[in-house]
Amino acid sequence: MKRMIGSILKHRSLSLLVLLALLAPILAACLSSRSATPAQQKTAQPTPARPAPAVTQASPLTPTPFFPQSPVSSPTALEQALSPTSSASPAPSSQTPDAPAPFPNTQYNLTAELNYDQHHLAVTEQITYTNHTNEALNDLVLMVDPLYYPGTFKLNSLAWADGQPVEKSITDTGQVRLTLRQPLPPGASLGLSLAYDLSLPSPTPSDISRPVPFGYTAKQTNLVDWYPFVAPYVPGKGWLAHPAGYFGEHLVYETSDFRVNVRLVGGRQDLTVAASAPAVIDGDWRRYQFNSARNFVWSVSHDYQVASEKVGDVTVLSYFFPIHPTAGQAALKTTAQALALYSELYGPYRHTTLTVVEADFLDGMEYDGLYFLSNGFYNLYQGQPGDYLVSIAAHETAHQWWYGLVGNDQAMEPWLDEALSTYSERLFYERVYPEGLGWWWNYRVDYYQPRGWVDSNIYNSGSWRGYRDAVYLNGAHFLEDLRKLIGEAAFFGFLKDYAAQYAGRIATGDDFFNLLKQHTQTDITPLLKKYFSSR
Ligand SMILES: [Zn+2]
Repeated sequence: MKRMIGSILKHRSLSLLVLLALLAPILAACLSSRSATPAQQKTAQPTPARPAPAVTQASPLTPTPFFPQSPVSSPTALEQALSPTSSASPAPSSQTPDAPAPFPNTQYNLTAELNYDQHHLAVTEQITYTNHTNEALNDLVLMVDPLYYPGTFKLNSLAWADGQPVEKSITDTGQVRLTLRQPLPPGASLGLSLAYDLSLPSPTPSDISRPVPFGYTAKQTNLVDWYPFVAPYVPGKGWLAHPAGYFGEHLVYETSDFRVNVRLVGGRQDLTVAASAPAVIDGDWRRYQFNSARNFVWSVSHDYQVASEKVGDVTVLSYFFPIHPTAGQAALKTTAQALALYSELYGPYRHTTLTVVEADFLDGMEYDGLYFLSNGFYNLYQGQPGDYLVSIAAHETAHQWWYGLVGNDQAMEPWLDEALSTYSERLFYERVYPEGLGWWWNYRVDYYQPRGWVDSNIYNSGSWRGYRDAVYLNGAHFLEDLRKLIGEAAFFGFLKDYAAQYAGRIATGDDFFNLLKQHTQTDITPLLKKYFSSR
């Protein structure tokens, strides 16, 4: 029960109206107990702020015929994949930093062997990185979030594609900076090869008040942000490589292509794997191809049950624990309803599957093609629209557009995905459960009397409560006021255009407002002054 209440009180969601009313004083206390001053944040060391996804067994999906050849570990395939930079003609780029590049996405080829009982993952990784910017690069920054967990990440080898050693420096903020032997021109590519072991962490008591997706519990093993990846580079700004904060998400992802080969070792036959993409079963291997995505996550459990349904061409999957069959179905249904609605409002979903995984940790957490939803919401689910399971599932589904399709700097401009995803909950209730809309405004948003600058970042809000109230909740009020001010046609026309224009890219607040100006003549200055500190 303590855990359940903790979950509810936690972040983005609320739960039962009645329970909430009863628990209001406790809740307020719990929330405030989570706050930390910026100074505390700095000392609150290796506390990875980001939750990780879970993996389950091969989904019962129609296999997608992608790479038919044997795992990337085949020497020839490897050589081809890693053959250096001959994408020679450095097409002089007049692209803006984050403009859709005419160049190939960066490629990640990962081969991972998981021993579920020993909580151990052995990984080989090849990265073929293409410089999408209009500047030559002198170094690369790899984001390595497992470094935040002491004793977790053991690097066995790191070399350029030609086998030459890499000059590197490892920071204490989950990053590795690689010095290039020669500048990498715009449009050129290079290959990097890594091998490493992960001794997976398990949440400790001090983590209990925050979502910790990466690692294992007695119920599941979640592999999120489990591999090194290259941070986005923006001319004029540099590498978008931020340290973890005490709350909120800090990673920024370029759209990339993933080939992932997974094998479960150790002899267990009872494991189920959930993942960002459908698996092709090839003997002992599960092979995944996930293109134009922000990341690839997976979750494994001996205890998952699976339900699925189709929404158009997309298969929605729900992985849940056996004690929650009703809530597991509700998570499936809500995700499917939200997927259909947002596809209509924002534009098509770009993958073939969308998976929701019941999480053995707090809160909800979005990844591309897969999101986690805390078992606390399943415990409290009572079959009503005014259940947190419903509102948070709608929120996390919206992240497939605001985070997945349209990327943003989650650390410095988190409102771009969080305010839009929170407001998407409002649109979900408006269209799917209008009878729940009053509950939503009253208990999800206004109960907290939200205030604070919508453009706060994850480092300057002072507390989780302050951050959530400003970015998520006041962000929803800003979007509601914007909609009223500019009208339905301009508002929804803008959202759809924003999704289309910035699909696969990393949008900024400037991009958001510059595009908005093309959809309305209305002066929005009063709104900007009311909600934003920097506009
Ligand atoms: Zn969110």
